[in-house]
Amino acid sequence: MEIMQSLENMRDYYESGKTKEASWRHSQLKGLHRFLVEKQPDIMNALMQDLGKHQLEAFRDEVGTLIKTLNLALKSLKDWMSGKKAELPQIALLTSAEIVPEPLGLVLIISSWNFPFGISLEPLIGAIAAGNTAVLKPSELSPACSSLLASNLATYLDNKAIKVIQGGPHETQQLLQQKWDKIFFTGSAHVGRIVMSAAANHLTPVTLELGGKCPAVVDSLSSSWDLEVTVKRIIVGKYGTCAGQACIAIDYVLVERDYCSKLVELMKLWIKKMFGENPQHYKTIARIVNKHHFLRLKNLLAEKQVKESVVYGGSMDEENLFIEPTILVDPPLEAAIMSEEIFGPLLPIITLEKIEDSIKFMNSRPKPLALYVFSKNKTLQRRMVSETSSGSLTFNDAILQYAADTLPFGGVGGSGFGMYHGKFSFDTFSHHKAIVRRSFLTDFWFRYPPWTLNKLQL
Ligand code: NAD
Repeated sequence: MEIMQSLENMRDYYESGKTKEASWRHSQLKGLHRFLVEKQPDIMNALMQDLGKHQLEAFRDEVGTLIKTLNLALKSLKDWMSGKKAELPQIALLTSAEIVPEPLGLVLIISSWNFPFGISLEPLIGAIAAGNTAVLKPSELSPACSSLLASNLATYLDNKAIKVIQGGPHETQQLLQQKWDKIFFTGSAHVGRIVMSAAANHLTPVTLELGGKCPAVVDSLSSSWDLEVTVKRIIVGKYGTCAGQACIAIDYVLVERDYCSKLVELMKLWIKKMFGENPQHYKTIARIVNKHHFLRLKNLLAEKQVKESVVYGGSMDEENLFIEPTILVDPPLEAAIMSEEIFGPLLPIITLEKIEDSIKFMNSRPKPLALYVFSKNKTLQRRMVSETSSGSLTFNDAILQYAADTLPFGGVGGSGFGMYHGKFSFDTFSHHKAIVRRSFLTDFWFRYPPWTLNKLQL
């Protein structure tokens, strides 16, 4: 009842037209910017409390990226909001046309726990820039971050238009019963289905940012420098991104059989160089979010043949929810670790006869959110572009695509649909209205009935 009243008030506020004003949008984006700058120490503390995220990682993946997006939105707002002229067929004499973006209304953003600020605020920036009122439902699994968002956004932003509602599945399902003008969901495919069927009742459009298994294909690299750079980027794209608890973290590696040991040996060396002999002691790797996920990861390793495939790491500390960076070589393909999204610091390496076989391997599995290919071979690169499908494809690096405002971020197939980041976020929360302006000055008699054959011959 309370939720319904609150949403009704937000709808009334939207109807007042306030959130459509450029000055309102600008002031809210500025408010978010101030929140990120002024409360940075609190944000870092909350991320440490919920996930053991190192400050540097937290700045790189959350605060810094968000500030960059906000700067772009503030600079581009006027341009994004303006109508864009459109061409018309010649028959439309003395007519002009444009495409004008308009806000959708009241939108719901449901987010996950692994990037509690990034994944909540990145879409919120788009929703605000596009002139909507918005409810944000952050994850209950990162409670310190969610409550920091709830207490601060109410003061830094216009709380008549933007609200944070905390809670878990029960509260989310209550929210999903309401009528929204758009639902933007980040999370698992399982909950994505619940969101989509609830949205269908009201014909509400949805964006689903889901996960999956993101492969990294490593070609045999002739230069030792190239291999070293590859290894460092793989390690950061797995263990150095929320301990692999990221939708675009590398899930598994594909490599030629003859090249595997070279890759693994160098990875072992660089894991130690980057995280120390005892990474838990140095607190440079995030911890597993909770006991449920810790046990889920422990179970992935429990199967005898999987355990036997561990060539590095594998130690776990349940009390501190810590899992050491772990490498496995050729675990059974039918094991859960090769069919479920891993979402943790376990990295299976699958060996193949030829690197080109990776295309068939990946195409026989659901389409991933991200694909990474480490290779200088232009023919292989071209084949990867034209013969595979993924939300994004990055050559010779990992995670980098997330930070690019100029690129759409989103999945395909099982990894979701819809896109955001930069101007794409603005578009995701806008309706692009087609506007035609016709003059009364010219008119053609043949466009009106009665339909006679001589009109057809003209
Ligand atoms: P999740 O689906 O369990 O939860 C996401 C949100 O849904 C949370 O806010 C949660 O409170 C809510 N929720 C959970 N169960 C629900 C239910 N039964 N009914 C209604 N709402 C419910 O996902 P998660 O564990 O928070 O996140 C991990 C998943 O999210 C992974 O699959 C990961 O790949 C994906 N992810 C995707 C992206 C992306 O940008 N594509 C980013 C981060 C995470």
